[in-house]
Amino acid sequence: MNGHAAAPSSDRIQIINDEKQFTPDLNDEIARWGLRDTGFDYNVVAVFGSQSTGKSTLLNRLFGTNFDVMDETKRQQTTKGIWMCKGKDMNVMVMDVEGTDGRERGEDQDFERKSALFSLASSEVLIVNLWEHQVGLYQGANMGLLKTVFEVNLGLFGKRTSDSYSQRTLLFFVIRDHIGTTPLENLQATLTADMHKIWDALSKPEDLKDRKLEDYFDLAFTGLPHKILVPDKFEAEVANLRKRFSDKTKENYIFKPAYHKRIPADGVSHYMESIWEQVQTNKDLDLPTQQELLAQFRCDEIAQGALAEFNEQARSQKRPIEVGKVVGGLGTMMRSWRTTALQRFDQNASRYHQGVYKRKRLDLIGSLDAVLSPLFLGQLKNLHKAVLADFKADIHRRLQAEGYNFADVVGSARDRAEKTFTGGAKEAVVEEGVTAWAWEEELELLKEEIRSVGDQLRKDETKKMVNAIERNFKKQISEPVDIALNKPSPDLWDKILRTYIETLAKAESSYLKKAASFDCTDEENEAALTTLRQRAWAALRAKINEQTADTTILGKLRGFFEERFRYDEHGVPRVWRPEDDIDGAFKKAKDVTLDLIPLYAKIKPSDPSLAVEPPEVDDDESGGPSALVVFSESKALELGARFRRDADAFYVEAKRSTVSSIAQ
Ligand code: GDP
Ligand code: MG
Repeated sequence: MNGHAAAPSSDRIQIINDEKQFTPDLNDEIARWGLRDTGFDYNVVAVFGSQSTGKSTLLNRLFGTNFDVMDETKRQQTTKGIWMCKGKDMNVMVMDVEGTDGRERGEDQDFERKSALFSLASSEVLIVNLWEHQVGLYQGANMGLLKTVFEVNLGLFGKRTSDSYSQRTLLFFVIRDHIGTTPLENLQATLTADMHKIWDALSKPEDLKDRKLEDYFDLAFTGLPHKILVPDKFEAEVANLRKRFSDKTKENYIFKPAYHKRIPADGVSHYMESIWEQVQTNKDLDLPTQQELLAQFRCDEIAQGALAEFNEQARSQKRPIEVGKVVGGLGTMMRSWRTTALQRFDQNASRYHQGVYKRKRLDLIGSLDAVLSPLFLGQLKNLHKAVLADFKADIHRRLQAEGYNFADVVGSARDRAEKTFTGGAKEAVVEEGVTAWAWEEELELLKEEIRSVGDQLRKDETKKMVNAIERNFKKQISEPVDIALNKPSPDLWDKILRTYIETLAKAESSYLKKAASFDCTDEENEAALTTLRQRAWAALRAKINEQTADTTILGKLRGFFEERFRYDEHGVPRVWRPEDDIDGAFKKAKDVTLDLIPLYAKIKPSDPSLAVEPPEVDDDESGGPSALVVFSESKALELGARFRRDADAFYVEAKRSTVSSIAQ
C-alpha cells in the first residue's frame, strides 16, 4: 500500500471552490477513500449555518474529519465553497458548506441558494447548526437560510415521478452552547413552530399549495453543552452524538434508508458535477431527468468497461477462426465471456434508473453478439470444411481396403460427418433457440456437398471398376483368339465368338455383382454396361486387327502353306525326288491356303447362333455390319497375290532341290 493508506480519512477535497467551479478530482478521491464500489452502502451529510458557529469544529468531532477551523487569534474571513471529507471509519461523505449564510453580512445570497440546491439534491441529512440564543429569532438571518432551503426543496422534490424513491430529507438541528436553563423541548417547540411559520408563508405553486412540511422533511433536534465553559461535558455529548451517526443498530440512528438519494457511489461524482452545472447555469434542476442522464452516462461507462475486457477475450480467438481453425470449446468460451460481461454490467449498472439500465443492457447484448457472431459463423464454416475434408479422407482410406461395400463406406462416413458437424455446431451456440445462432442451414449445405462428393466418388469408382473388368477381359480373350487365328479351321470364328460371348457374359455379371454395393441407379448401370460392351468389342477387334495385319496374316498364310507343302502328313520335312508330283502337291497346298483368305476376311461363325451384333459406338464407324469385316475384297485380292509370290518362291526352291540332288 502507498502513503495514503494510513490516513485516507484525513484527505479532504474542495469540491466547489470560491470561483464556484466543480473539482475534476472527486471521482478519484472517492475511489481513494474506498467508497467507489460501495453501491448504496454510504451516506451523505452536509452542514448549514451562520459563519463561525462552530460547524467545522462539530463535523471534525462527529466524523473524525479535518475541515479548517477558524483560528480565534486571527478571525480571518472564511472563503466560500464546499469541502468534502470521508468520515473516519464510516462510509460517510461529509460536506462542509462554507459561507452559506450570506445574509448575515448582507452578502452573496446567490451562493446560498445554489449550495442549498446542491446539498438538498445530494444529502440525506442537513445539519442546521445554530447558537442557542439564535433560537426564536425568526426574523434573524438564520431563518432566511431555511426559507431558501424550503423553497428550493419544493422545486426539486415537489413533483414525484414513478421512478423516484421517497425523497425525504432530515433537518437535524444542533443547538450550540446550550446552557440548559431553557429545556431542549422548549427550544424544539419554538424551532418547529418557526419552521411551520416559514413553510406556511412560502409562496407555493398552485398544485403544491396543500403540501405540508412533513411531506418532505423530518425534523430532529439536539443540544450541545458550551464548549469553552464545560469542555468535558461538550466532548462527552459530541461522542454520544457521533454514535447516532455511526451505529446502525441504534434506535435513533440518523441515516434512515428513506433519506438516501439512491445514487450509486460510483455515480456520485458525475451526479454532483452535473447537478452543480445545472445549478450554476440557473437551469431548472429536474432530478428525475438528472438521474436518467446519470444512468445513461454510467451505464455507458460500465458497459464500456465490460466490453473492453470482453473484446480482449474475444480477440484471442479471432485469428484462429480467420485462418480456418476449428476452435475447441469455442462455445463454452463465448458463453463464459458473454456471461461475465453481463454480470459485470449488471452488478454496477442495475443500481441505476431501471428503464435506462434495461435499455443499455440490450445495447450491450447487441454489441457482445456483434463480436461473437462472426466467430460463431466462422467456426461453422471451418467446421464444415474440416468435416468435409475428413469425410473425403475417411472414404479414400477405407476404399483402399479389400472387399469394401461402397454404399456402406459412404453411408457410414456421411453419418459420422453429419454427427461431427452437428455436435460441433451445437457446442458453438451462444444462446439456444435464437435465430442469430442457427446452424441448420450450414448443415444443409454440408449435406449437399457430401452428397455430390459421394456421387462423384461413385462415378469414379464405377469407372475404375469398368476399367479393371476391361483389362481382365482383354487378358482372357487374348490367348484363345491367338490360337484360333494361328491354327485356322473352318470353325475359326465359332471358337473366337464363343470365347468372346462367354467372357463378356462373365465381365457383365462381375460388374453387376460389384455394382450392387454402389447404390448406382439403373441408368448408371445401363451406361456402364454399354461402355463395357463397346470396350469388349473394341478389344476383340483390336486383337483380331493385330493378328490380321498384312505381314502377320501373310506370315500365317505362308506358315500354313509351308506346313502342307514342305512337310508330309507326319510333320517330316520332304526331300523332293524327281519322280515326286511337285506340281500336284504345290497346287493342293496353295489352294487350301488361298481358301483361308475369305475365311479370315469376315467374322462369320458357321453356327448362326453364335452370330453377334457389334455394339454401336457413336463417334466411330466401326459399328454396324461393316464391323464384322476383317479386310475388304480388294485387300483379299492383294493378299492373295502377295501370297502367291511367296508360294512360287517355295515351288522354285523345291524344283531346284531335285535338280541339285540329280547333279550329285
Ligand atoms: P465555522 O465557521 O462555523 O466552521 O466555525 P469554526 O468551527 O471554524 O469555529 C469558529 C470558532 O468558534 C472557533 O474559534 C472555535 O474554537 C469556536 N467554537 C467552536 N465550537 C464552539 C462551541 O461549541 N462553543 C463556542 N463557544 N465556541 C466554539
Ligand atoms: Mg468552517
